[in-house]
Amino acid sequence: MTQYFDPYNADRPLMLKCSCGRDHTVAEHQQELAAAQAAVELKRRSETTEFEDYSNQFIEATLIKSLFPQDAVRRRFLRAVGKGTAMAAIASVLPVASLQAMAQEKRSLEKTNLKIGFIPITCATPLIMAHPLGFYKKEGLNVEVTKTAGWALIRD
Ligand SMILES: [Zn+2]
Repeated sequence: MTQYFDPYNADRPLMLKCSCGRDHTVAEHQQELAAAQAAVELKRRSETTEFEDYSNQFIEATLIKSLFPQDAVRRRFLRAVGKGTAMAAIASVLPVASLQAMAQEKRSLEKTNLKIGFIPITCATPLIMAHPLGFYKKEGLNVEVTKTAGWALIRD
């Protein structure tokens, strides 16, 4: 375990801690390191043009999902009318392109200081992770993310 504790190094104190100086196990250290690397990778990807395509497609998929909450119905509809007709029909009721454009549009913000309360469940992850990844700051938002105990406290 020399690589972690380095007991033969004259230049650093021998602490029975992780070699980074913090009080956690090597497994925890590696877990944190992996999380940090994943965050760097996610940030890198968010700065590519691919990400805009991804974002646009995500918006479209979300809209289709809201139109067809049951996937079997969506698939039956697509099989029955074909992709082209389905896309035209959906575009006539849903302004997909303008919603995508709206998501990309940079306008002056109505409010820049925000407090975001979240309930610690999996679907809150994007709200929470957007903060350390600098996504809020990039959009000119000053956001405070806080964990909340129940819906009653955050519904406003
Ligand atoms: Zn460590």
